[in-house]
Amino acid sequence: MPDTLFISDLHLSEERPGTLELFYRFLTEQAAGAEALYVLGDLFDVWIGDDNETPPIPHILDAMKRVTDSGTRLYFMGGNRDFLVGDGFAEATGATLLGDTQVLDLQESPTLLTHGDLLCTDDVDYQNARKLLRNPALIQDFLTKSVPERLAMAEEFREESGEATSLKAADIMDVNQQTVEQYMREAGVTRLIHGHTHRPAIHDFTLDDQAAQRFVLPEWHEDHGGFLRAGANGLVLETFA
Ligand code: MN
Repeated sequence: MPDTLFISDLHLSEERPGTLELFYRFLTEQAAGAEALYVLGDLFDVWIGDDNETPPIPHILDAMKRVTDSGTRLYFMGGNRDFLVGDGFAEATGATLLGDTQVLDLQESPTLLTHGDLLCTDDVDYQNARKLLRNPALIQDFLTKSVPERLAMAEEFREESGEATSLKAADIMDVNQQTVEQYMREAGVTRLIHGHTHRPAIHDFTLDDQAAQRFVLPEWHEDHGGFLRAGANGLVLETFA
């Protein structure tokens, strides 16, 4: 039975050519042979709308399309940087779009998938900004602007926001354990997979007297990245370089 792979936090942009090359290689060497690839957000450093065809976006979409054409199922969940990914992206890549949370039956254990920023409830400023940015009227207004206008606005926002220009875990608040447990309880799972915090790890803990696990995906750099593999050896965090 082919493996299921999970990635997040690649922050792809033309400013990180090494990461782009690494991702293209990951797609052909790992994803193309897998049963499914789940992208759990922040694949892109920024996504200003599906109509933006600025390089390297068309090349990235083509590379992902080749993976779905090969028979791998592709699922995409938006992160805090690429939550505007929409139907145009799905059509171009063959991906199925997921909402902010998704329960997946993985190796006979229901597993909650989420990007991870929703779990960082100690960061009140961030959660307030998140709500503001997801305002449908604001999004609609943004999407009616021209691509150059949107690129300029995104750049301005990037410069203002600390997290947006840094990949350091110290600049991103970690998850709140109570929030983690609340999400898992509501989803009826004892396993959670997320990214966002740039603190890759496997956390074992007890949830309502049951053994529970939280898998945190790694962020990608110019010369190395990583992914979670669900395969014959269970769930394993692997590096990719
Ligand atoms: Mn994120």
